[in-house]
Amino acid sequence: MLPYAEIKLEINNEMEKKLIELSEKDHEGYVLMISPPNPLEEDVDAANLPKIGVMGKIVLKMEINSGITRVVIEGLKRLNVYEYHPYPLVSDILEASVAHTTKFAITPKDEVVLIRKLTKELENYIDSVSYMSNSILSELQQVKSIAKATDLVAIYLPLSFERKLEFLKTVNPYTRVLMLLEDIKKEQEIANIENKIDMEVKNQLDKSQREYILREKMRIIREELGDTNIKEEDIEFLRNEIESANLPHKIRERLHLELKKYEMIPNSSPEITMVRGYMEYLLALPWNIFTMDNKDLNKTRKVLDDSHFGLDKVKTRIVEFLAVKQMNKTSKSPIICLVGPPGVGKTSLARSIAASMNRKFVKTSVGGVNDEAEIIGHRRAYIGAGPGRIISSIKKAGSSNPVFLIDEIDKMTSNVKGDPASSLLEVLDPEQNMYFYDNYIEEEYDLSKVMFILTANYLNDIPEALKDRLEVIELSGYTEYEKLDIAKKHLIKTEFEEHGLDDKRVLIDDAIILDIINYYTKEAGVRELQRLVAMICRKVVTDMLSNKNKQKVYRINQENLAEYLGKKKYFYHDKGKNIENPVGIVNGLAYTQFGGDTLPVEVTYYKGKGNLILTGSLGEVIKESANIALSYIKSHASEFNIDYELIENNDIHIHLPEGAIPKDGPSAGIALTSALISALSNRAVSYKIGMTGEINLRGQILPIGGLKEKVIGAHRSGINEVIIPKDNICDLDEIPSEIKEHIQFYSAGTYQDVYQKLFK
Ligand code: ADP
Repeated sequence: MLPYAEIKLEINNEMEKKLIELSEKDHEGYVLMISPPNPLEEDVDAANLPKIGVMGKIVLKMEINSGITRVVIEGLKRLNVYEYHPYPLVSDILEASVAHTTKFAITPKDEVVLIRKLTKELENYIDSVSYMSNSILSELQQVKSIAKATDLVAIYLPLSFERKLEFLKTVNPYTRVLMLLEDIKKEQEIANIENKIDMEVKNQLDKSQREYILREKMRIIREELGDTNIKEEDIEFLRNEIESANLPHKIRERLHLELKKYEMIPNSSPEITMVRGYMEYLLALPWNIFTMDNKDLNKTRKVLDDSHFGLDKVKTRIVEFLAVKQMNKTSKSPIICLVGPPGVGKTSLARSIAASMNRKFVKTSVGGVNDEAEIIGHRRAYIGAGPGRIISSIKKAGSSNPVFLIDEIDKMTSNVKGDPASSLLEVLDPEQNMYFYDNYIEEEYDLSKVMFILTANYLNDIPEALKDRLEVIELSGYTEYEKLDIAKKHLIKTEFEEHGLDDKRVLIDDAIILDIINYYTKEAGVRELQRLVAMICRKVVTDMLSNKNKQKVYRINQENLAEYLGKKKYFYHDKGKNIENPVGIVNGLAYTQFGGDTLPVEVTYYKGKGNLILTGSLGEVIKESANIALSYIKSHASEFNIDYELIENNDIHIHLPEGAIPKDGPSAGIALTSALISALSNRAVSYKIGMTGEINLRGQILPIGGLKEKVIGAHRSGINEVIIPKDNICDLDEIPSEIKEHIQFYSAGTYQDVYQKLFK
């Protein structure tokens, strides 16, 4: 409480009632008002109470209801306290001995000046703060004493409790004026900042209001001028498109619904582009668009023959497939899957099938796909959502019955986001694919007229669920002579055309093509070969143009081949002419996704305890083969001229080089056995011999797969004798005759046969 302030109290406790009573009875209603240091403390120590307070007078007292007394006390003036002591007979109430505070001498003139200054500052402040009442100003006009003026202003200003306490303690009115002026300045600053913030907020509101008004005006002006809205034009355009396009009934209805939605959404909503994009996509799909098939199977065969050399079995199978389809349109024919190493013409064959049937061709690769949304699309709720590969390829094809090549189905993986193989099954299954549902399109699309062709490099890696729906047609790697024919009849022609050359100006004879195949490539297919032919063409064209000699004839021969293609890279055919056959190394044969190849097996041993060490990224099955081989040898050690103690007192290490490439399968069995015997009995095996076959503990040799690929690969690597399991003899029919001419085959029913061939 400050002097001139007024406080209202509502009292309901007996002690306080007693205090008021005593004050009225004994002290004409005066009370001393102080601020105790801790207002919550009940047992106050009189020594800690402040030595300054305000004399108050009870100006009103009335009983309101149920024992509550309302008291109004008015502050009169500051008093110094000398001492607090218990009130006689009522010890809980304190009585204080007090005296007036010091009086400071200020001249009346100074007082006027100070009051004026205070009033003026206050006026400024009140002007800038809209919520402050200005009643104080008129009150101040009546006041002559600066002491009173300061106290009045102090009550009026929104000061903190602490500041008010300081005020109470400050007896010198001049100091109080300074304090107040400082406070007013501070408050004014706060008020200014507040005003500034308010202004900014208001400005922003004004701006958007302004824009709104301008836009409204613009709309009205455009209407007056007869300009229709751009969006309205767009809506009209879309409506026409929807009406004129050849759409299934359901899709047309869906589009009309979307169009309504489009009309309703305000231009500023981000959803608007999504809706617009969706309509555009639906309209762009080739609903009800089909190309007419060529039904002449002879023509089909001719197109295939013209574009691809050889592949007789494959072409026949494709023509049969198409024949059956023509006879029975509803037949649930299986899906063709072309399996073979890269570059053997799977893609280009599919392209030719499309051309021969007069159908559009599209291709998508699912290699590396591990999320089913890639196949069946993302739902539109996602930002950046789009259709899956199937629907987007159909859109690209522009017809609903294209030849659709799905590449690399053996390279899909499944993970938490679902199994793309099973989504692909839905796409391919003739029972289901009439109603193919893409998450983005949200409508069914009939894929039943699409001719799907799948490709894979490696049969074993095709997901099982898919495999038994497919009609697998295997394309194997080419022999060097097949490659020669492909190069002569196709690759060179194509590349010449591509580069604007012809066979009159560039002469490449057969021997050179064979050199390119043998010394510059190592592949099952002909991709690298094609690239090298292109490289020669590029060099020729560049030379022609830079020497301005278009008439020159370029003859590629043994002498200048290196100028075109650089140094030779591979030397199988000359390999090891003067090398001695090493001990402990034997050529197995492998069938990889890149075609057939040799698989050397290396064995060495050193002091140890009979452990078997296996390296070279081996799978479980091949590791087992190695153990079987060793057990078989241990049990026949003396027969094979091996000292048993050698096995017991040494560790044996088997390594299959190109260690980073994973290897598995049982067919290395006889190669592992032979390499072990070679190392342990110190007898070499010719590097010109290759072998393949599974072995069991009794030394029987079991048949293997991929013989054709393996033999072609072996031949490519310069091998001229091959040991095969007896039960694979029937597969020799498939091996091209020009390879059979160069390779001597030995069949083995048990390991004894192999041993006879290699070591006797
Ligand atoms: P893949 O799809 O099996 O990896 P590609 O179809 O891409 O192989 O074939 C690579 C290239 O080799 C293509 O230019 C293709 O025309 C050509 N090619 C492959 N095999 C033959 C063949 N038998 N006759 C003609 N060209 C072939």
